[in-house]
Parts: sequence; C-alpha cells; structure tokens
Amino acid sequence: MSFDALVVGGGISGLSTAHFLLRHLRAGQPGGGASPAVKVVEASGRSGGSVGTERVDGFLFEQGPNGVLDNAPDTLELISSLGLDGKLLPASPRSSDRYLMREGELRPLPRNLRAFLLSGTLSLRGRLGLLLEPFRSRGRAAADESIAEFGRRRLGQEAVDALLDPMVTGIYAGDVEALSMKSCFPRMAALEEEHGSLVRGMARRGKKKSSGEGKTSPFSATLHSFEEGLGTLSGALAEELGENIEYGLGAESIRACAEGWRVTFSDGREETARALVLAVPACRAASLFAGPQSDLGRDLATISYSSVAVVCLGYRAEDVDSELDGYGFLAPASEGLETLGMIWTSSIFPGHAPEGHVSVRALAGGTRFPEVVGKPDEELIEMIERETGAAIGLKGKPVAQRVYRYEQAIPQYEVGHQALLEGIEARLRAFPGLFLTGNSYRGVSVNDCLTEGKRTAGEVSRYLEKTASAHSSSQPPPPPDTA
Ligand SMILES: Cc1cc2nc3c(=O)[nH]c(=O)nc-3n(C[C@H](O)[C@H](O)[C@H](O)COP(=O)(O)OP(=O)(O)OC[C@H]3O[C@@H](n4cnc5c(N)ncnc54)[C@H](O)[C@@H]3O)c2cc1C
Repeated sequence: MSFDALVVGGGISGLSTAHFLLRHLRAGQPGGGASPAVKVVEASGRSGGSVGTERVDGFLFEQGPNGVLDNAPDTLELISSLGLDGKLLPASPRSSDRYLMREGELRPLPRNLRAFLLSGTLSLRGRLGLLLEPFRSRGRAAADESIAEFGRRRLGQEAVDALLDPMVTGIYAGDVEALSMKSCFPRMAALEEEHGSLVRGMARRGKKKSSGEGKTSPFSATLHSFEEGLGTLSGALAEELGENIEYGLGAESIRACAEGWRVTFSDGREETARALVLAVPACRAASLFAGPQSDLGRDLATISYSSVAVVCLGYRAEDVDSELDGYGFLAPASEGLETLGMIWTSSIFPGHAPEGHVSVRALAGGTRFPEVVGKPDEELIEMIERETGAAIGLKGKPVAQRVYRYEQAIPQYEVGHQALLEGIEARLRAFPGLFLTGNSYRGVSVNDCLTEGKRTAGEVSRYLEKTASAHSSSQPPPPPDTA
C-alpha cells in the first residue's frame, strides 16, 4: 500500500505531527471521501519516545520529561482536543523554591533580582556584575555566541558559573561554553535585542504580565503533568491513532521513488508514501540517507547529543530527614559531582508517591561525565546517595527504584546551529515530500516539539494538497529518483 504520509518515529514529535496532519486532512474533506492514509512507524515496542511514565510499587516514575509549562498555546489546544483538561495536574505551590548545591549544601535560588542582590548566592563583585547589566552595551545582533560568552559579556563570569552553567545542565545536560545562546535560549537572547538589557526586558515583561497582557509569556508559567503522569499525553495520542501506528518497525533506509518516497524497514519490508516525515533524532535520520541525499545526512550527523541516566528513587518519608520543600536542586560544575541535579518529584506532584513516602529523581552524566551513564544501576544509585544524601538528609535505602539510560538524550544546539539549520533547509528543498521534525532542530522541550509537530503537519498538508492533482493524474511528475 502507498500512503499519503509516513511518519518515522513515534515519540511526542511523530505522534503530534500525525495527529495535526490527520486533523488538517480530514478538515479538507468535509463531505467525507477516503480516509487519509497516514501511518506512524516506531522502532520500539511503545509510543512516546523519551516521554513515558511507569508505576513502580505505588510510585509514578517519569523516565523523561517531568512536566510541561502551561504557556504554550499549541500544547493547551492539543490537551483540550484530546479531552485531557480534567486530568491535568498543576505543580504544587510547595515546589516553587529551587536550590543550588554550593560546597555540598543547598542554597535557595533567589526568586527575583532584588532577592538575588540581597542573597549570598554571588560575591559582592558578582552582584555588582548583575547591577551593571542594564548599562552594558548591546552585543552584535547577528553574532551567534555561546551561552558562556553571552553571560560573561552581560553578567560576569561568576554569574556564568553559579547560574547559567547549572541552568544549562538542568535543561541540556550540556556545556555552557559550547551551546549557542540564540538557539538554546532564544527568548532570553531576544530580551537583549529588543530592550538592550535582560534586566530591563524582564521588568517590562513583568509589567505586561501584571496588566494581563502577558498571559502566555514564556517567563510566567506553571509546570503541569497529569494525574497518571506525562505518559497520559503520549498514550492519548497513540490511542487516537490506533491502528495507524505500527510498533517494532525500524526504518533502515529511505530513497526517492516514483510514488514519492520508499522506506525499507528492519524486517525487509518496503513502504512508499507521497510525503515522508522523519520524526527521529537527527543522528538517526542521518543514518537513513544514502546516495545524493548524503550531504543532508552529513549535516544532520553533525548535531551531537548529551547522554544521561535518569535515576528515580522512592523512600519512606521517615528515611529522609528534610522536608524536601521545593522543586529540587542543580549542581554547578564547580561542585565536581557526577550527579547533575535532583528534582523532588513528590513535592512537585504529591500524588506521584504513595502516602507516607517521598520520591526524588536525579540526573547523572551529561556532557560532563558521559561515561557515568553506563554504570550498573546499583553503582549509580550508590553514587547519587553518596553525593547528595547529606544535603537532603537521607537516612535509609530506597523502597522503589528505576534507572533509565539515554545514549542520545538531548540534542546540543552548539554555536553555529542556526547556520546549520539554514543549510539543512536549503538542501531539503531539493527533496520535495521529505520533512524533518523533532527535538533536534528548534527546541527541546515537549512544548517546542508539539509546536514543531503542528508546523510540520501544516507543511505536509500543503504539500499533499499541492501535489494531489499531479499524483491522481495518470502521469506522475518525474521524481527526484536517487536510488
Ligand atoms: C531525561 C530527559 C528529561 C527531560 N525533561 C523534560 C522536561 O521536564 N520538560 C520538557 O518539556 N522536556 C523535557 N525533555 C525533553 C523532551 O522530553 C524531548 O525533547 C522530547 O520528548 C523529544 O521527543 P521526540 O519525539 O522529538 O524524540 P524522541 O522522544 O527521541 O522520539 C523519537 C522516536 O523515534 C523512534 N525511532 C528512532 N529511530 C527510529 C527508526 N529508524 N525507525 C522508527 N522509529 C525510530 C524512537 O524509538 C523514539 O520513540 C527531557 C528529555 C530527557 C531525555
């Protein structure tokens, strides 16, 4: 059978692309007609990719993302259209405080600039660096610079080490000296471009928010999950797609053909489709290319990834001698820990641990210590307890545990990522009907992936519409056959 569209990869990007695409195509045939032929193929035995929730001895453990921020209209629209509004679970107000590990102790991260200046998070010199930020001149708008370079220029080295480095660790498990400010934190980079200063920009956005204008501001958002964890979202998308997903079927190679695109799968089968969406990490997409597309493959292969181990632990409440009052903590590189940070999952979503118990989730490895990810479970757990136990008052052993490992966890948008994307887009123009989506390109958060999925679905739908008449005529247009 030849499909209208084949989506390779059943993570949140592939699932949402298929969801939005089917909606577009069905809306385009109000009087009925043949059901659009859209299929998702997923190499593993389950949907969701990094998104996944597991129930272990009464604890809800998240293997990947812990929640989504409620400031992304596409996510909110998707949740509503899946009928999941009633199952949404906002983070507990108890989790609003965040901590930094400094010299083995947890220090609260001040919530605003004033609190920052009054706190001991930075030395007097470091605080002066923050105070001077509004008076520093703007950088060159076109320049792509690392997060560390941006931070040094605007805030000073101390702020880079104490604030930006842990922030980058928490989101990208990456290197603050290598990652691009514009690609990783575009909204923060835009503050400088628009307002000449981060402090001034945040103050103005804060005013908009309090006057009601900033309802979907990226700077004011509440983390949400679902009663049964974030797997509810990927589960609902997969359920809706039903038989349109096939599991355990990995794409091995792709080539253009008369029908559009031909995909060869791990079991030797071949399928064709007019439009082919690769919703897999760029490094995987790269391995599917051969022949003239290989320049595209080479570009995709240059996007690197951090690897991480996610360690979920459940304890009896009396075995943790602290309130775990807050969201959790991050450890700057200067602490020299293999544990990058820890979130206190049962403080964020209390229903995710059984009565009388608490749960935490630590992240280890990243670009700092990639080798840690390969350690056996017991060694990883022992390392996390040794490095963080004193700070959180750990007295006992876990009653539930799970370790999830990712060799290619989070794409690293290094300096030059924007230029690389432009090159990839230019090369893609030579391959009509081929689309790339997923977290490798324009944002790593679940919200970013959903926005990207919706955008891709719109492009695919327009392509299918544009080529529909040519396709249905007896003489198909000459394909860019590269076999
Ligand atoms: C540990 C961790 C914590 C995170 N925390 C958060 C968070 O709290 N909040 C947030 O917003 N984001 C978070 N993220 C980021 C976010 O979860 C991911 O960016 C997002 O889920 C990626 O989705 P995706 O579909 O693009 O890719 P993936 O989830 O990687 O899905 C790709 C899918 O493609 C399949 N596949 C690969 N190759 C093939 C092939 N050849 N043929 C067929 N199928 C194939 C894979 O099996 C997989 O299912 C986190 C990520 C990780 C790893």
